[in-house]
Parts: sequence; structure tokens; C-alpha cells
Amino acid sequence: MDLSSLIRNVPDFPKPGIQFKDITTLLKDGKAFRCVIDTWKERYEPMRIDAIVGMESRGFIFGATLAYSMTLPFVPVRKKHKLPAKTVSITYDLEYGTDTIEMHEDALKPRDRVLIVDDLLATGGTLAATVGLVRQLGAEVVEAAVLIELSFLEARKRLEAIPIHSLIQMGE
Ligand code: AMP
Repeated sequence: MDLSSLIRNVPDFPKPGIQFKDITTLLKDGKAFRCVIDTWKERYEPMRIDAIVGMESRGFIFGATLAYSMTLPFVPVRKKHKLPAKTVSITYDLEYGTDTIEMHEDALKPRDRVLIVDDLLATGGTLAATVGLVRQLGAEVVEAAVLIELSFLEARKRLEAIPIHSLIQMGE
């Protein structure tokens, strides 16, 4: 199935110069959405995954659906001050300024085998921070699955030690 043709490119959103990759056009194609989830399910079923971690907010759509289909726990990573109980947190650099993300401190157990899921890998900053949270809880990142990888940003170089799997690779 040609998934890349279902991603809508929106120029200059949310600010000038950004080519926003809109996944809602894929989500409204039920067969394509199922294809994404089933492809990952087939890949990850033999890998003895204990939990799926997804990042706010589009990582929730793909991560939670995959967790449901694999009957696995789903753990949300959220922007600061959104989670109600005790959290671990990490602050990372953005192009301008910083961002902080959090996870409940009891969300994972030490040595849990974790799959991280997000919609898109750009610079890899969000993924690197999420890996940091998972490791703070003593769990292990087995792989990161993303629907879209912006290959020209070379996030893989930055995240050398983390196996990354993408279904769609896009250039500039
Ligand atoms: P990064 O931390 O640079 O890898 O950015 C990844 C996060 O930002 C993901 O959660 C994406 O949802 C979002 N993101 C970054 N760039 C884009 C883009 N061009 N189109 C859509 N989402 C993006």
C-alpha cells in the first residue's frame, strides 16, 4: 500500500518555512490506518515488548491503537504539568527555547522492554528525550517506530544507539 501518498504536505504551518506532514489524511482512510497498525503488529509481536510509550499528541493515536491491538500497556508521555500523579521529567532544547516532557514514575518497571511510537521523526529531539524518560525508570528501549522519517534531518546519526523503524521516508 502506498502510504506516502496519503500524507498531506501543508507548507508554512505552524510557521513560515515548515513543511507540515499532516497524518489526518491517512487516518481517514480506514484501510491505510489498519495497514500501519497491522504492519507494526507483525513486526513487534515476536520482540517480547512489555509496554508501548507514545508521545503527545499524535503518538497517542498510533501508540494506543497498536497497544490495543497487541493487548499491551500504553504509557503516555505528556507536556509538563499535564499528568496528575508523581512524574519523572526531562527538558530538551528546541530550535528556540526548551521543552519539558513527563511520564508517571510508576508507568514502567525496571527492565521492561519498551517500544516507543510517534507519528514523525524530525530532528530526533523528542525521541531522545523520551528515551531519557524510559531509562530514568530503568526500562529498556527495544526500538522506536515512526510512521514518517524526515531523512534529510539525519536524526538516526544523533540517536545512533537507538534502533529506529520508519514506514515512510521523506526528503526535503
Ligand atoms: P523532533 O523532536 O524534531 O524529531 O520532532 C518530532 C515531533 O514534532 C513529532 O512529535 C512530530 O509530531 C512533530 N513534528 C516535527 N516536525 C514536523 C513536521 N514537519 N510535520 C509534522 N509534525 C512534525
